[in-house]
Amino acid sequence: MRPITVIGNWKMNGSKAACRQWIDTVCAEMEKGMPAGRRFALCPPYPYLSDCSQQISACSSASLALGAQDVSAEMGGAFTGEVSAAMLHEFDCKYVLVGHSERRDRFNESDRLIAEKALQALDQGLTPVICVGETADERNSGRAVEVVRAQVARQIAILQDRLVDSLLAYEPVWAIGTGKVASAQIAQDMHREIRLQLAEFNADVASHIGILYGGSVKFDNAVELFGMPDIDGGLIGGASLDPQEFLAICRA
Ligand code: PEP
Repeated sequence: MRPITVIGNWKMNGSKAACRQWIDTVCAEMEKGMPAGRRFALCPPYPYLSDCSQQISACSSASLALGAQDVSAEMGGAFTGEVSAAMLHEFDCKYVLVGHSERRDRFNESDRLIAEKALQALDQGLTPVICVGETADERNSGRAVEVVRAQVARQIAILQDRLVDSLLAYEPVWAIGTGKVASAQIAQDMHREIRLQLAEFNADVASHIGILYGGSVKFDNAVELFGMPDIDGGLIGGASLDPQEFLAICRA
């Protein structure tokens, strides 16, 4: 049985005060108890990691973990502006997003670079959350499966068996931040497709890896999405900024 994982991605939003208030609220609720077999994480912007890490470690519920929104593909050295996986590990990050569509599109990240980032994360014991997904044009021209399969194939080729220690996140680009959530059936169909593709490579990896859905998830659609057999939780953008909405999704 794969656990349900719910991860909040704040993107370049929030403030130090907003992080404090959010963690106060979420930890207080989590200390009262959360459904078993679920894992939760917050990925705030880099500058807030230190503060969030201290606050989360003081929370008596072990349910909430910390994650980062990106990581360098390099181990260290002269790479101005980059943050290494070892640095994230120092701040108790358990997860790191790689290959978010905003980074693929706005920062020209290739599948190879994304896999190299995932390898750096794995080397430091972090779980990379590898994002894949098609654009609206690609879906409308009937190429959604082909595009996602190609993205997943590159990760399989480079990460091989180490994929089992990662999470995948299917995030259709047309659903991110648009309010146009994929129907539970559309999401399930793509998750199934990804799992079948992984099974062609390694049945063990396919049955163990968590595949999250991301794209306009809110409490009112999370119940149906998380109820699908191949959907193992969600990557939540906008809705994660509100602690009560995030908690409601975590319980969905
Ligand atoms: C995301 O940025 O990963 C995301 C899923 O955003 P939203 O939930 O706002 O669509």
